[in-house]
Amino acid sequence: MSQPIPMLLKANLKQLKLPTMLAEHDKLAREAADADEPYDSYLLRLTEAELATRSANALTSRIRAAAFPVLKDFDTFDFTAVPGLPKQKVLELARGEWVEQHFNCCLIGGSGTGKTHAATALGLALCRLGKRVRFVTAAGLVTQLEEAHQQHRLDRLLAQLDRCDPLIVDELGYLSFSRTGAELLFQVFADRYERRSLLVTSNLPFGEWGQVFHGDRMTAALLDRLTHRCHIFEMNGESYRFRESMKTKKDGAPKKGK
Ligand code: ADP
Ligand code: MG
Repeated sequence: MSQPIPMLLKANLKQLKLPTMLAEHDKLAREAADADEPYDSYLLRLTEAELATRSANALTSRIRAAAFPVLKDFDTFDFTAVPGLPKQKVLELARGEWVEQHFNCCLIGGSGTGKTHAATALGLALCRLGKRVRFVTAAGLVTQLEEAHQQHRLDRLLAQLDRCDPLIVDELGYLSFSRTGAELLFQVFADRYERRSLLVTSNLPFGEWGQVFHGDRMTAALLDRLTHRCHIFEMNGESYRFRESMKTKKDGAPKKGK
């Protein structure tokens, strides 16, 4: 052999694209020798290290691809503040069975009631399960659809969206759409029926969705599909944001009787 073994080994691990084994094999070999470990258990440790980094990297890229606006998890979510969103039920949804069964989920409630936070935390949990999550705002999605439609690449965008499961559509109802925009959004929702999951958040009760989807017929057809197999949570109550800011003000103010 013209080259020393360590160099050849490094070159092979590089060529085989095993960067963690490349980085760790020396240290683990020393540990294995010190502990008098058999060869196969050393190899097992090395492959475990490689697999662990691979799965961590895959999770990071799934979370990046999901495009959450901010990363918020359930550890900072106060379920006692939202009686409409029972903790046990949500943690069950975080186990992802509803996505495998092509169910939908709707979080309905006023501004600041934690819809985006809960949708993001649920999305993160699903990323950890290996799901291809995509987070969009309804307005952002409609803009993308309209642009793709104008530029004759709608099919490509629809195919991309179809690969995401679940598709999280946040803030439906804050803005109304053009007729074409509403029709395109309807198409996305209708296409997913019983094949893919949607998680929709809205400040509007279902009865008012006609304002967004021009006309009662399209709204009825959409709601019929969306809510057929759907977990619906009404998160009404006081705005968490508002309540927290009032609490801060109160805590900061001099206390009476002290
Ligand atoms: P929405 O999307 O319903 O308007 P957000 O999810 O954006 O509300 O919540 C507004 C702010 O309040 C965010 O910073 C969010 O993290 C926080 N928040 C809302 N509800 C809760 C909750 N139950 N526990 C902890 N933080 C919350
Ligand atoms: Mg929101």
